[in-house]
Amino acid sequence: MERLANDCFANASEMISANEALNKISSAASLIVGTETCSLPKAKNRHLAEDIIAPRNVPLFDNSAVDGFAFRYSSDQDQDTGEAPRIVFGQSTAGHPLAEAPPPDTVVKILTGALMPDGFDTVAMIEDVSFAGDNVILPPHLKLGANRRKAGEDVREGQVLLKRGSSLRAQELGYLASVGIDAVRVFKRLKVAVFSTGDELINPGEAIFTGSIYDSNRIILTTLLESYGCKVTDLGILRDERQTVRNALKGAAETHDLVITSGGVSMGEEDHVKTALSETGQLHFWRIAIKPGRPLALGQIGNTAFIGLPGNPIAALVCSLKFVRPLIGILSGWGIDPPLSFQAKADFTMKKKPGRTEWLRGRYTPAKDDVGIAEKYHTEGSGILSSAVWANGLIEIGDDVTYIENGDMVTFLPFSELMR
Ligand code: AMP
Ligand code: MG
Repeated sequence: MERLANDCFANASEMISANEALNKISSAASLIVGTETCSLPKAKNRHLAEDIIAPRNVPLFDNSAVDGFAFRYSSDQDQDTGEAPRIVFGQSTAGHPLAEAPPPDTVVKILTGALMPDGFDTVAMIEDVSFAGDNVILPPHLKLGANRRKAGEDVREGQVLLKRGSSLRAQELGYLASVGIDAVRVFKRLKVAVFSTGDELINPGEAIFTGSIYDSNRIILTTLLESYGCKVTDLGILRDERQTVRNALKGAAETHDLVITSGGVSMGEEDHVKTALSETGQLHFWRIAIKPGRPLALGQIGNTAFIGLPGNPIAALVCSLKFVRPLIGILSGWGIDPPLSFQAKADFTMKKKPGRTEWLRGRYTPAKDDVGIAEKYHTEGSGILSSAVWANGLIEIGDDVTYIENGDMVTFLPFSELMR
């Protein structure tokens, strides 16, 4: 199976825009995972591999939405005067319906969720009735069908309940349970291997040496990938050595659907990922007109997709949110699923080079009776992780923009959307 169509990476040496890169990803990549059946508790946060057709109505029967008295509607209910007291014939509670059909001019005491008695169509709330001895006086101005939940008003038998690709959040799982479904076919998790590359890298907990830095990308990537539903293998740090990199890539590709590395994709002498990949598979090196994170390598090793992220942690993070997320969506069967964004008022001014998209680390604050404001972090370096810790999202500045004035509208992408 072709995971990434080759021709889509033609002219790789040219600078392409962020949108072109996204278009290339969506036309080059296709579904690669299989499917499996999961019980509902196991299916949480997975994605449906089939359309689900409702096997029955919800609610299954007409029932009461309130505690009160059920009755057969008569046009008298519309009058100001109300009507004569009615006899209470019996009661219907949740799980314990009335056994017999009540006479039409009586009322039946009913509790929320209880079956509507035969022929009865309307419920008066307990708070709204008055009593004459043991009899009940119904309030005026009730509409036919008031406080009654109709059979099938939520779900109709035979309708498409959920579409293939739907993500199974708490509410979708509840929806499936409500029609009695206890297991569904979902897409298998995408198997992703993650490496870091660099002779300077050490693991947190290890002793530092002169010139060493702690590997922060790997934990960023594995965490992010897990929240995207991937089955992640952490394959550690690769030394800057062509043979090592090549063997590791080859090995990982044999047992995974996607291999992701960070670092080693620039033009430096020690950037072996590129060379190793062109020896074991096909490399499609992209220079994307974006900031942060210009060099992004895409390719494949055999049938396994490969993505080489820039080494700087912020660049790796932003490229993951903007490019890896949609790639994973397509490979895993849930599609692009565009994250929600909204407009906010810039609380900064900035000059910008035209012809590239920039993502600033931003902090959105809602405003009372007005559009919320977006601040940007005070420094922009692509190695500055404190910016992302401070931020609650990204501010996207489009290709053509050259200047942002305080108060201009900008697009804000909350992390909560980009990280789901
Ligand atoms: P490279 O793309 O390998 O030239 O790396 C660019 C910058 O990112 C260098 O300053 C690296 O030290 C840094 N870097 C690369 N990988 C990581 C990592 N896993 N964690 C933190 N910083 C990294
Ligand atoms: Mg490096």
